[in-house]
Amino acid sequence: MPQQVADRRDQDFVIWEQMNCEEILKHETYHEFNKKTCDMIIAEARALAVKELLSLLAEGDEQGVHFDAGVVKVPESFHRVYKLIQEGEWNNLGVSQEMGGQGAPAFVAAAAAEYFLGSNWALYCYATMGNGTAHIINLYGTPDQKEKYVRKLTAAEWGGTMLLTEPEAGSDVGALTTTAVRNDDGTYSLSGSKIFITNGEHDLAENIINPVLARIEGDPPGTKGISLFLVPKYFVNDDGSLGDRNDIVCSGVEEKHGIHASATCSMTLGSKGKCIGYLLGEERQGMKIMFNMINHARMSTGLQGMSYASAAYLLAVNYARERIQGRDLENFADHSAPSVAIIRHPDVRRNLLWMKSYVDGMRSFFYYMTRCASQALITDSAEEQEKFGDLFSMLTPIVKDYMAVKGHEVCIQAIQVFGGAGYTRDYLVEQYARDCKITSIYEGTSGIQAMDLLARKIGMKKGLVFMNFLGEIQQTAAQAKAVDALNDLGVKVENTANRLGEVALHIGKMAMSADFKVAFAHALPFLYAMGDTIMAWMLLWRAVVASQKLNNGAKKKDIAFYEGQLKTAEFFIRTELPLTLGKMEAIQDGCKAAMEISDDGFGGL
Ligand SMILES: Cc1cc2nc3c(=O)[nH]c(=O)nc-3n(C[C@H](O)[C@H](O)[C@H](O)COP(=O)(O)OP(=O)(O)OC[C@H]3O[C@@H](n4cnc5c(N)ncnc54)[C@H](O)[C@@H]3O)c2cc1C
Repeated sequence: MPQQVADRRDQDFVIWEQMNCEEILKHETYHEFNKKTCDMIIAEARALAVKELLSLLAEGDEQGVHFDAGVVKVPESFHRVYKLIQEGEWNNLGVSQEMGGQGAPAFVAAAAAEYFLGSNWALYCYATMGNGTAHIINLYGTPDQKEKYVRKLTAAEWGGTMLLTEPEAGSDVGALTTTAVRNDDGTYSLSGSKIFITNGEHDLAENIINPVLARIEGDPPGTKGISLFLVPKYFVNDDGSLGDRNDIVCSGVEEKHGIHASATCSMTLGSKGKCIGYLLGEERQGMKIMFNMINHARMSTGLQGMSYASAAYLLAVNYARERIQGRDLENFADHSAPSVAIIRHPDVRRNLLWMKSYVDGMRSFFYYMTRCASQALITDSAEEQEKFGDLFSMLTPIVKDYMAVKGHEVCIQAIQVFGGAGYTRDYLVEQYARDCKITSIYEGTSGIQAMDLLARKIGMKKGLVFMNFLGEIQQTAAQAKAVDALNDLGVKVENTANRLGEVALHIGKMAMSADFKVAFAHALPFLYAMGDTIMAWMLLWRAVVASQKLNNGAKKKDIAFYEGQLKTAEFFIRTELPLTLGKMEAIQDGCKAAMEISDDGFGGL
């Protein structure tokens, strides 16, 4: 049976052989987990995802959600599987035990999530979005708020959301106009409209807890003046039972390009003047608090993009093994020669290897990030904690946008491998491509991630974090250079990392000069150049591990896998990385045309 959604052998390689996650399990925090239990958890997650969630993916796409008079219904078949997710506590695998979760290490939660997201993101998201809401309540809530909400959310008995966006406040959250007025009893009355709210209303959970960004009357404009309120759909009594309905209603759902089974809701707060919100944390600290949720969501969104790409790649490569079309190029003139599977054709092979290199690189990158997060959590050394925490923070916009955009490109190429069949709804690849597009839009668009990287991240601690990052790449390059077969690839990655350092310095300086707008016009290409360099690093690292395994006498069944690692690294570093160096040259060249062209010069008037 071909692999579906995620390649288990590859996950195992990344987790145990490349990232050496057994080291993490030695820490007392994870004393309940060993390699065997982790393997079992991942196998169970995979079985549930492929059997139950994946079988509803196309159905959810076709049926979508149904809106009528403020009520949103998800596809009927989702209810049973939602219960299965809840009963198996798959919705809170990586959530701390203190918050009612399973406390599994981040890499195990990521491995399970790969299957769930790639099988049916929309359904899984209904059951897991409350974890983010619970997280900020756990960090900033009063004892009463924690007691009331946290465990209900992490158990997926109640749903969670995040209400930032308004018609005139999208990327610029600070422009929001939802207002809050202080009441005598310490609560606040909210009024306003939010749009594009994922899971704002649905019939899978008995209550929904909405963290809402709003401005208290009289507070300053911009993000500085924003506070965060908890607005439950149903009030919660002191004994935990549900009370009256709050004045927050869904006024419609969006018709969308993809993720049709996910409810994207317009929400009206206070149309009857009775929307009550409870302050979370302190007044005017709303953005700071919400960023805890946003950063978490950015990681999940990157993983979502990668999971679609992985699923689409596996469909494509297995289709290419079966689809018979055309003669082998070596028999081109011989009309009596048999037709072959399309995987024999050079262009299809190139495309498949291109897809594989991104899927592999992104998987390693994501697990590297989970390893940084775990190391920051379990280390006793303040210095290490800072180092890994900073690396994680600097690389978050790259996980978010690079994995979204490359994930989408992989899905598009999967359609190409299928040919005409890929463009129909007979196969899931076209749905994956549609569903994936959103990942470079929500949780901050590509442009916003690029600005974050340039304005806030690469200069962190006077560039020290960036230098540490380059140092990590150089270590892998040095290991590769010590292996004859990888020496040349090691040199290429080393040179690329050095070049990235020069370009970072250049664009960083430009961002602080009179030409700062030109720098920001190159910020997204810079993010991609950095992402490409990370891919090369991750693939080279894989190749170093694989070559060690081969030299030590790998088992027969593993040889093709390990040799595949060497070829994937070679392909990416010798065919994609030269393009990256070109991108870097263009950034350094600092072309100003995008800023100098007049608005009318764009044409179309
Ligand atoms: C399916 C879906 C689900 C969503 N779920 C949620 C949710 O649960 N909660 C929530 O609050 N929101 C949600 N959103 C909203 C989403 O986060 C926003 O759509 C997104 O942040 C972009 O805002 P916008 O649509 O207003 O686009 P705009 O802000 O109008 O941006 C349009 C374009 O201009 C660019 N741009 C804008 N400002 C700048 C700038 N300063 N510099 C450079 N480029 C810029 C953007 O990159 C983009 O390409 C969701 C959206 C969708 C479509």
